[in-house]
Amino acid sequence: MSTEQPLERYSRQMRFYGIGEQGQRRLLDSHVTLCGCGALGTVLANALVRAGVGHVRLIDRDFIETSNLQRQVLFDEHDVAENLPKAEAAARKLAAINSSVHVEPVVTDIDRTNIVELVRDADLVLDGTDNFEIRYLINDAAVKLGKPWVYGGCIGSHGQTMTILPGETPCLRCVFEAAPAPGEAGTCETAGVLGPVVNVVASYQATEAFKILTGGRDRINRDLIYLDVWENVHRRIKIAPLLGKVDCPCCGRRRFEWLEGEHGSHTTSLCGRNAVQVAQRAPTRLSFEDLARHLEKLGEVSYNRFLLKFQVDGCEFTVFPDGRAIIKGTSEVERARTLYAKYIGH
Ligand SMILES: [Zn+2]
Repeated sequence: MSTEQPLERYSRQMRFYGIGEQGQRRLLDSHVTLCGCGALGTVLANALVRAGVGHVRLIDRDFIETSNLQRQVLFDEHDVAENLPKAEAAARKLAAINSSVHVEPVVTDIDRTNIVELVRDADLVLDGTDNFEIRYLINDAAVKLGKPWVYGGCIGSHGQTMTILPGETPCLRCVFEAAPAPGEAGTCETAGVLGPVVNVVASYQATEAFKILTGGRDRINRDLIYLDVWENVHRRIKIAPLLGKVDCPCCGRRRFEWLEGEHGSHTTSLCGRNAVQVAQRAPTRLSFEDLARHLEKLGEVSYNRFLLKFQVDGCEFTVFPDGRAIIKGTSEVERARTLYAKYIGH
């Protein structure tokens, strides 16, 4: 990237006062790890690669389905027909958009055993997941390594985002001490999601990425931004006073409970039964009433005091009050985790 010609493609962005040629050269030298390549992730990857972020590592465990095309902007019908993993299909598209940057697809399930390696060499981590467990893992790893990261989440027509600069702004656990219990919040599968809100939230995240990478730290968003594009709501919630005021296990006491496996889920393949058990490490208490209300849009749900049953995607779920589920119809641990996150939520 030493000749003038490659920089020309970024001329409109370099003319912007906040970036300039120096900022552009910093973007070209930057390395971003992007966790998740679904709705938020494809918008983020598109923005980063077009802007000339030099190295983008795209991590996703999933394959593309037709129902993704409504909002996952890098994919098309050919990708569904080819049965491609999201990270791989996105990397192919992005190479055609900007062949001068390095896009590294990683098809894997992010968990506590690999998160540190996946983010260690990055200047910044971006959250493009729809999964609380992964967000708390990102938070632990980022705070431990002192790396900035940008949280984003969307469901229905609303979404939120915040930027975490370890030691300088509150971390995810300062603001949301615990993840919602499984089944408590809806998921995109049960509550749906609008394409436009995804684009808005991811665009805030991408702009924060540019500020952090180019050194524009004085402009970084230090609030929690919440917006609802259907209900016409836009709020900024002041979170800066939380830093050091709450007894945060992560950035305060430096106890990385998700990374160390005290929280989160674990899975076991049930031999010879074509079933996988997904269980929560920390005690939790499910409300079958709430979970049934989310799930009944997808089909019949039955429950009593002891268990809840439903069928979806060719699998039968049996869910217990402690958050444990036996998913029958697959022996693949990763598929079971994906299904659990999609329909029970976490
Ligand atoms: Zn904290």
